[in-house]
Amino acid sequence: MILRGATLLDFPSLSRREGLEVHLAGGRIRRIAPPGRRGVARGEGDPEILDCSGLYLLPGLVNTHSHTAMTLLRGAAEDCTVEDWFNRYIWRYERALRPEDVYWGTLLGAAEMLLAGVTCAADHYFHMDRAWEAYRHSGMRADLAWAVFGAGEGWEGQWAQALEFSRAFAGRDPRLTVSLGPHSPYICPESFLRTAGEAAVEMKLRLHIHVAEESGQVERSLAERGCTPVEILERTGILRQGTLLAHAYWATDRDLSLIRERGAGVAHCPKTYLKFGDVNDFLPRALAAGVGVGLGTDGPGSGNSQGVFEAARDAALLAKAARRDARVARIGEVLPLCHRGGQLLGFPGYGRLEEGALADLVLLDPRTPAMTPEHDVFANILYSLGERSVHTVIVGGRVLVREGRLLGLDLEELRRKAAESAAHLKQAAGQAPLQNY
Ligand SMILES: [Zn+2]
Repeated sequence: MILRGATLLDFPSLSRREGLEVHLAGGRIRRIAPPGRRGVARGEGDPEILDCSGLYLLPGLVNTHSHTAMTLLRGAAEDCTVEDWFNRYIWRYERALRPEDVYWGTLLGAAEMLLAGVTCAADHYFHMDRAWEAYRHSGMRADLAWAVFGAGEGWEGQWAQALEFSRAFAGRDPRLTVSLGPHSPYICPESFLRTAGEAAVEMKLRLHIHVAEESGQVERSLAERGCTPVEILERTGILRQGTLLAHAYWATDRDLSLIRERGAGVAHCPKTYLKFGDVNDFLPRALAAGVGVGLGTDGPGSGNSQGVFEAARDAALLAKAARRDARVARIGEVLPLCHRGGQLLGFPGYGRLEEGALADLVLLDPRTPAMTPEHDVFANILYSLGERSVHTVIVGGRVLVREGRLLGLDLEELRRKAAESAAHLKQAAGQAPLQNY
């Protein structure tokens, strides 16, 4: 396939290139060259030519932390504290979760992400064998971690299932990778964290874990264990190259240095923090410390939507508000985080428009009121772009969204199946209303 006529955007340098053709083959970008130089696809038949005139081309966006099937609990617990969110609402529904609910909830989330230009997601949830099928069907790229608490009733069976899934599914599809998913240092005992860390080394897998989501966790950890949650990950062997830390929002400056030294990455999920009224200047601190930060939406049970452009906007606004300084979290610092998660998930070069990179691409159509006029296209993308600007989405060289429409998924069926699953969860929770506002 040849993409012809697009303007190529580069977020880290806030620069653009025009007058180039982008040749895709074998799921990768094969050549970026001025028109007229032919020959790349010779012998492979005539390549399809996609007319991209008037569109902006950029690498696909990465959702670095979600619990995607929680699309089924979108809007089920609002205007409440973190404690009430989990104990009074979410957990009552989640314990009734069936494998088929995860399949349909994940597929719905994948559809939502693709329509928002998200080509890759890191998903941390349950029944991941079914989530794996959903991602495979969707065409998206994903990393899947089966969440394990390491404590409470039946946790050994949950751990055995997670290990079995990881052994059976790792390497089965080059688009889908597998990580181990111990939940967090505030739920998992240290002995289990050590076990999970050792299993990851033995199985050559990365880890995806929550840490330091709120300030209370850090205070309790210091009072009860004499060290921060990040330090617990360090002493149990979890904190190392390739580990993905969801949040680390209340990491201390010392924690941030440790995270950078060990080579772990962080998924920053600003919408969840904002919704819980939790303001902190994590992002400027983490960037100054040189930590690898990607953007995440968190599960739709707390973050509601799955768009990474929205996460970027929230991240910039949150940082500016926390510092009470408009000059922090500048456009050129925040926009690159839309792609950064790809490298944190082990895809080298992800987020660059260059020969050899994975052909995970997004075309934006700026011909909308919210993108007009164009003093600065990068400012428009960060602060005023609407989802309808996502025109085409390509993953591994395959077009999954064209002219704002999903090609391979039946949205009506998805809506129906998701509504059925949501009704099941509501009934299983005791017919209680999801929430009275
Ligand atoms: Zn999470």
